[in-house]
Amino acid sequence: MSDLSRLILDRIRDVPDYPQPGVLFKDITPLLADPEALSAVIDELAGLHQVDKIVGIEARGFILAAPAAYRAGAGFVPVRKKGKLPAETLEASYDLEYGSAIIEVHRDAFAPGERVLIVDDVLATGGTARAAVELVRRAGADVVAIAVLMELAFLNGRERLDGVEVHSLVIV
Ligand code: AMP
Repeated sequence: MSDLSRLILDRIRDVPDYPQPGVLFKDITPLLADPEALSAVIDELAGLHQVDKIVGIEARGFILAAPAAYRAGAGFVPVRKKGKLPAETLEASYDLEYGSAIIEVHRDAFAPGERVLIVDDVLATGGTARAAVELVRRAGADVVAIAVLMELAFLNGRERLDGVEVHSLVIV
């Protein structure tokens, strides 16, 4: 295991039965609070691919994607829960590990053919990432890859993302 993977594993806290019984929640706040871990993670995300935009998925994806975009010299684009973006949007619905939801992106968020990296904290069932891929593509951009801090392999999310490169800094 790489030093970075070990550092991430060390700094992600398991919270049982949050937000509902049976879910083992992966809390990234200890990692975010550690300057060494935070900068190592952001540098890693920023160096994965040469892209025009980095998309963050609300809400924890924002915390990672915005500094990674800054570091990479790329733009940041938010994918938000329905009803939060003010201008004209595209929307996609999807199933979660716990519940279902609709996410949106601004229709004019990308120039045609722009290269995009999608970032989130945890890849679980893959429903959110898949919906984000669909949105970015419908908005006219090219999804280069998805990057997450942690992939929950037992939920097989990667299988729902066929054809898209997935970078997981840690797989559990
Ligand atoms: P999924 O669509 O099932 O891949 O779920 C991914 C989204 O839900 C991500 O935005 C995660 O932040 C969140 N999520 C799902 N399961 C967990 C978990 N066990 N711990 C932390 N976040 C999770």
